[in-house]
Amino acid sequence: MAKTRIGILGYGNLGKGVELACRQNDDMELVAVFTRRDPAGVKPLTEGVAVRSADDLAAHADDIDVLVLCGGSANDLPEQTPSCAALFNVVDSFDTHANIPDHFARVDAAAREGGKVAIISAGWDPGMFSLARLYATSILPDGADYTFWGRGVSQGHSDAIRRIDGVADARQYTVPVPAALEAVRSGENPQLTTRQKHTRECYVVAEQGADKAAIEKAIVEMPNYFADYDTTVTFVTQEELDRDHAGIPHGGSVIRSGATGEAGEHRHVVEFSLKLDSNPEFTGSVLAACARAVHRMSQEGQTGCKTLFDVPPAYLSAASAEELRAHLL
Ligand code: NAP
Repeated sequence: MAKTRIGILGYGNLGKGVELACRQNDDMELVAVFTRRDPAGVKPLTEGVAVRSADDLAAHADDIDVLVLCGGSANDLPEQTPSCAALFNVVDSFDTHANIPDHFARVDAAAREGGKVAIISAGWDPGMFSLARLYATSILPDGADYTFWGRGVSQGHSDAIRRIDGVADARQYTVPVPAALEAVRSGENPQLTTRQKHTRECYVVAEQGADKAAIEKAIVEMPNYFADYDTTVTFVTQEELDRDHAGIPHGGSVIRSGATGEAGEHRHVVEFSLKLDSNPEFTGSVLAACARAVHRMSQEGQTGCKTLFDVPPAYLSAASAEELRAHLL
């Protein structure tokens, strides 16, 4: 069977993650990486993969079955996904939850116009966590949902600390509060405030002569990011940060706690959890499976924008329907 020809647009952490996922899937072939930077300065991990300018995308529309968009959700994907969906089948990991309906509408219009299929907001949250929420709420309509993130690195919060005067570098970990997790897992259905669910740990490298007390105050009082949480700030050297905090781990749990029975006397707790050594490599692996599904839906003649909610689970797998029934059902 012909391999699915994959292109990657944007070669950061996630772009590398998709590249590594392509290596693990025999039915996929990475044919090109596209970048907005000078292609001569971008070196893929895989020998023989072409690096091209993003300006030349349109010329390669016939060489690629699915273009996986690996730009940032804040500034890149709102522009890139609609414009690429007019020319290519695409997958993205758009994760600004509040803007997903608007992003969906714009990508859907472009993909229908171009006769292409798009999957947006794939990854783990949104993505696998969304599916876990959907399955559990469909099965247990009488219940409560909880999502805990971490322990893991939040790129957005790390970036926010780096923007403070006197900060040279920083890493921020989001950490679930063990007592809150325990209460939810026991089926108590507690009402939890933001502060009761997660704490934030910050490892900060201060510039020479910087006012550390002022930096700490600016962090813990920062609205939206830290003010609503119990936040700890630890100053470290650049060497310590590079040595002890170089990874990009993440994960968390989606938990639904519900009740059935005549008087709700029987309790059920459904939990889906992830413990990821590398957030971008796992997310890239989800995007690769979605690329397979997009290619199949396109071959069937479907068009328009989809999310993981619209993808038949079997379309994500390289195995045949017979194999899936025999081994995974
Ligand atoms: P990143 O490493 O900052 O890369 C984003 C883009 O920055 C790249 O595509 C690249 O595009 C550009 N870039 C510019 N200069 C660069 C340089 N020197 N090195 C590397 N890239 C450079 O971000 P990321 O970690 O890959 O994450 C991308 C997005 O994935 C995030 O914004 C997040 O929204 C999303 N995400 C979603 C999930 C989920 O579960 N749904 C999980 C994780 C991440 P060019 O090559 O065109 O310059």
